[in-house]
Amino acid sequence: MVLSVFKSGDALFDQGTDLVKRKEYAKARKNFEKTIEKGGREAVLAGIYIDIIDACLNNNSPERYARLASSLEKINEGFEFGLTEIDPSRLGTECRLLAERMSIGRMPGNNPAALEEKGNRFLDLARKYQSQIGNDTIMISEIVGIQVNTGIKEALYIQAWGYESLAAGAVMADPKKAAELLQNAYTCRKQLGEDGQNDMNLIKAYSKSVKCWICGRPSTGEGVHFLAMSSDISPFMRNSDDDILKSAPNDYNSVYVCRPCYTSISRRSDEIARDYHERAMQEMRAMEARLRAEISSVAAYSAIRR
Ligand SMILES: [Zn+2]
Repeated sequence: MVLSVFKSGDALFDQGTDLVKRKEYAKARKNFEKTIEKGGREAVLAGIYIDIIDACLNNNSPERYARLASSLEKINEGFEFGLTEIDPSRLGTECRLLAERMSIGRMPGNNPAALEEKGNRFLDLARKYQSQIGNDTIMISEIVGIQVNTGIKEALYIQAWGYESLAAGAVMADPKKAAELLQNAYTCRKQLGEDGQNDMNLIKAYSKSVKCWICGRPSTGEGVHFLAMSSDISPFMRNSDDDILKSAPNDYNSVYVCRPCYTSISRRSDEIARDYHERAMQEMRAMEARLRAEISSVAAYSAIRR
């Protein structure tokens, strides 16, 4: 048997493809590196194999899919990776879309403008999945071991994220619009066979309207524009005709308060608490100083006595 150091680039490449079939990716990667070093016939394909393996070894990196997409542009002919028949142009498209999906998912920012942009980019990407992949199964997912969907199904997930992000961006200015956007997300989740409960809970919360117990103003959007504040509604109060009573959760253990009232009360009580805390700390420091003074005078006294 010839030692592997003396193998030609082509022999190393063939051995590498066998290793891929056995899913021994790290070993196979070394063979493909050596194929490139030795300038084997299949050096270009070896480079692509390395990029596919890198995507398999870290299937959560958009950069790796973008790199694989670029290297797939170097060839036109189909090839095999393990037992999978690969159409380079198709796999390249899938990699670009997947890289885009991951990059959008990682977009920073929680402010309305950023969430709106993220939502619109997701919706745009969903349209690409529908038109460019359609009913076909996404091969790259199978190769790198992530959830395998058809283009249409992937588009539904991405649409749901898109509408959810748009809703999160809209809720501060327009809770009713946010509820409508979430209705679209809910429809996508139902089509995917999910219960869509998270979306439904938010739809209910964002469409709910109450009156503030403190200022009497109407408000819409539970948890955002009004909040439940701990309270005790006595039986006498429960029987009154006042429509504001409807503005309380069924257990009568809290009242609904609009966001401006809620924040002014909590900020003021924070200030009061901080003031008490500072006064208590001052007194403790004064006491500490007094004790230190006493200790040193006792120490001085006993030094004289010694
Ligand atoms: Zn209020």
